[in-house]
Amino acid sequence: MEFQKRGLPHAHVCLFMHPDHKLPSVDHIDKHISAEIPDKSVDPELYLIVSEFMLHGPCGIHNMSCPCMIDRKCSKNFPKKFTPVTSIDTNGFPVYRRRDSGIFIEKSGVKLDNRSVVPYNKVLLKKYQAHINVEWCNQAGSIKYLFKYINKGPDRATISVEGNANQNNQQQERDEIKEYYDCRYISACEAAWRIFQFDVHYRSPSVMRLPFHLPGQQQVIYGADDDIDSVLEKSESVNTSKFLSWMECNKKYENAKDLTYVEFPVNFVWKQNKRCWEPRKQGFSIGRIHSVSPSVGEAYYLRILLNKVKGPKSYEEIKSFNGLTHDTFRQACYARGLLDDDSEYVDAIEEASETGSGYSLRTMFATLLLSNSMSRPEFVWEATWKLLSEDIGYRQQRFLNCPGISSLCFI
Ligand SMILES: [Zn+2]
Repeated sequence: MEFQKRGLPHAHVCLFMHPDHKLPSVDHIDKHISAEIPDKSVDPELYLIVSEFMLHGPCGIHNMSCPCMIDRKCSKNFPKKFTPVTSIDTNGFPVYRRRDSGIFIEKSGVKLDNRSVVPYNKVLLKKYQAHINVEWCNQAGSIKYLFKYINKGPDRATISVEGNANQNNQQQERDEIKEYYDCRYISACEAAWRIFQFDVHYRSPSVMRLPFHLPGQQQVIYGADDDIDSVLEKSESVNTSKFLSWMECNKKYENAKDLTYVEFPVNFVWKQNKRCWEPRKQGFSIGRIHSVSPSVGEAYYLRILLNKVKGPKSYEEIKSFNGLTHDTFRQACYARGLLDDDSEYVDAIEEASETGSGYSLRTMFATLLLSNSMSRPEFVWEATWKLLSEDIGYRQQRFLNCPGISSLCFI
C-alpha cells in the first residue's frame, strides 16, 4: 500500500501467473491489456469507465499545474506516441498499441485520444469500476519497485506556526526541545489504515530462507552452561542442519535429484520437529539462499555452485564436475566456466540490485575493490554503473537543497 498526502491509498500488486496462463510474448499482451479508448457502440459501459478513470491529464501546455508536471514536463511521459502494434523497447519494457483511430474524449476542454490512455484490463475495470493500471512485467526490477514503496517511508519535514513575538514587545521563550522535534506527518487515510491494522504488505506463496554452510561450520545452539562434549554428541543441530538434511534427502528420494537447493522447497517440506525434509503433499513454497559477499571466499563460491548443482549427496559431489572432484569450491566454479571473466561479479551486483538500494550496491562494489578479487574492475564498473548510481538523482537533489553543502561527493 502506498499512501500519499492526498487522495486514497494506492495498492501495488505484482502477480506471478501460473505457467499455463503466462503471457510469454508480445502477441499475448493485446488480449489482456489495452491502452486505447474502446468503441462506444460496441461496449458503451467500458467506454464510460475508461473515459472516467483511465485517461491521463489533460497535462502539459493545456494544464501546467497538473500534479504529474515536474520541470514543465509530464513525469509519466504522457501523451505517448501513436503505435500501430504492441512491441517491446530496447530496455525490455512494453510499448502498448495506440492506434491513430481518430476517436477522442473531451476533458476540461481538451481532446484526449489514444495517446492519453493509461493501460488497463477490461475485466478488472468493469468489475471494480476504479482506476486500475495494468502493466505487463517481465523483469525482476518490477518486484524491487514494489518493495520500494513499503520501505521508503514518508519524506519528512519540520514546520511550525508561531505567533509574532514582537507584537507585545516581549521576547518569547525558546523551547529548544520543541525545535528539535523529529516528527512524521501521516495522512488521515494512512492513520486509519494503521489504526485498523490492515495489511500494508502481503505476500503469497511463502518464501523459505535456505541456510547453507561450509563443511563443519553449521550453527549449533546450546546453553551457556552446557558441557561442550555432550553438546557435540547430542545436539541435533550438529548433524541435521537444513542444508545437510537436504543432501541426505537427495540420497533417499529419486525425484530430488533433478532439483537444485533453491528449487527444493517446491516439492519438499521441512519438518522442524523431525529436523528432516519430506515430500510435499500440498501447496508450495519458494526457496531463497541468503546472499554472501564475495569477500568471504569459499562460502561465496559454494553459493554459486548451489544455484547450479542438482541433487548432490555430499560436499564432494558439489565440488565435482565431469567426473573430477576439485579441491575447492572456487576451482569447481572455474571448471564449470562460472568464473571466467569477472562476469560473476556483474551477475552478483545485478542480483543484489533486485533487492538492494544503490547505497548497498556501492558498498558491495567498494568491498570488491578492497578485497582485490576482480581482475578487471573497469569491466565490472562499465557493466553496472547504472545500477550503482540509481539513487543519485534523488540524493543530488537532496544535497542541492541543503544550503550548507557546496561540493558533492558520492560513494
Ligand atoms: Zn501528465
